[in-house]
Amino acid sequence: MSERSDFGSTQRIDLHSHTSWSDGTTSVGELFAQARTAGLDVLALTDHDTVAGWPELPRAVAASGVAAVPGIEVSGEHDSRSVHILALLVDPSEDTELAAEMASARASRIERARRMVELIAADHPVSWEDVTAQVAGDTTVIGRPHIADALVVAGVVPDRSAAFTEVLKPSGPYYVPYYAPSPLDAVRAIREAGGVSIVAHPGSVTRDDDLPLGLLEAMVEAGLDGVEADHREHDASEVARLREFARRHDLLVTGGSDFHGTGKPNRLGENLTAPEVLERIEARATSGTRVIRP
Ligand code: AMP
Ligand code: ZN
Ligand code: FE
Ligand code: FE
Repeated sequence: MSERSDFGSTQRIDLHSHTSWSDGTTSVGELFAQARTAGLDVLALTDHDTVAGWPELPRAVAASGVAAVPGIEVSGEHDSRSVHILALLVDPSEDTELAAEMASARASRIERARRMVELIAADHPVSWEDVTAQVAGDTTVIGRPHIADALVVAGVVPDRSAAFTEVLKPSGPYYVPYYAPSPLDAVRAIREAGGVSIVAHPGSVTRDDDLPLGLLEAMVEAGLDGVEADHREHDASEVARLREFARRHDLLVTGGSDFHGTGKPNRLGENLTAPEVLERIEARATSGTRVIRP
């Protein structure tokens, strides 16, 4: 066990991160090496709509000394807007409703990315081949970040963030939605797969507006376990609002960095989850998937 996790010291726990298995830029091994450098004791791997990185976790944990919470950031859609739900300690097998929904979302993401590139290509020098060149390994989780990277390489925009605000925004002419289950179905599917569901960044100030309170309440009715209150896209008043919502509904409160490697400014460990919350997450999961400790 590392010095940082000795008895008496506070565990540093980050419950949200991505690798190049979805739209981050590091491998699983690099992610955990960087987590050690950032002084983390525990990190959840939560790639979008895939468990493809999970098999690499035991080795990454052994090499880094940082414990891993196997997870997913599941895509949902409500009223044409994206709702993300962290699914922690779920059953990763392919015969669950959750796995079927994620397979549909991944397939739809590919069609959607092709269509967006067609639309963009009418105005900017970027092709489908330019986009697939930005996809690391053999991931099937293609997103706007990969299109953004192709736009950067083509010199259309200076960086990913500019691509998101200028070319790829939902209100722009090139945006195409992709299939994702309703957030209520996603919450139920996560529970059915024995996992713990946490609505991710529900009040992102960088989005068009906050998730409607009514939707959050319906998600609680459907079995939502928690809210990710501590996230860089929440200002202080949103964090307070979400903590109060969690207190009223007896929900878990988590924090996470939403690290995407060099693809976003988010730094590992910039938001953390309390150790007793992780204990409750572990106690609640019924899937057999456990936290992987060094
Ligand atoms: P998509 O799922 O393909 O619609 O793309 C959304 C993904 O892009 C999410 O994972 C976000 O983390 C990422 N993203 C959103 N805004 C930005 C941004 N400004 N810069 C970089 N990545 C972003
Ligand atoms: Zn992402
Ligand atoms: Fe997200
Ligand atoms: Fe994320």
